[in-house]
Amino acid sequence: MGNIQFYDSFDMLPTDTLPDYCPVCMKSVHPEYILMHHISSESHELLCHCPNGECGSLFFAVYTESPFDNSGDWLEHLYPHNKYIKDFPKEVIEVSPEFKEIYNQAYHAEKEQLDMICGVGYRKALEHLIKDYIIDLYPDKEETVKVSILYQNVLMNI
Ligand SMILES: [Zn+2]
Repeated sequence: MGNIQFYDSFDMLPTDTLPDYCPVCMKSVHPEYILMHHISSESHELLCHCPNGECGSLFFAVYTESPFDNSGDWLEHLYPHNKYIKDFPKEVIEVSPEFKEIYNQAYHAEKEQLDMICGVGYRKALEHLIKDYIIDLYPDKEETVKVSILYQNVLMNI
């Protein structure tokens, strides 16, 4: 079990590689440092406050002992990240409004290194896009397309 040290009692910050951006709003900032959580002798988390008035989020900077030499801790990553969003042309969103939402959930999972589930999400997003496109071309086939499994039936029955 780790221990917590508040900023005013820091002897020194763990490294000169302090966070220079906020992972939530992605703005370049000089965060305020609130406390240090010493998880173990090799791992520490620095709780930071984003000074950007539109954001104001708290986030953690995670430090681990440098794997390369004995120069001390190094900044491993920041968390949490805001949702990763990819935009698509309006023509795509008009044909398949759910595609963007499903795709972005898969994209977020991939960025959070949830690589065992993002593939399923991308497949589902692609299936929605293709089915919605076919329905857009052949509106009278909507019911058939909606209940079909993409690779088995939809493309064969049109
Ligand atoms: Zn921020």
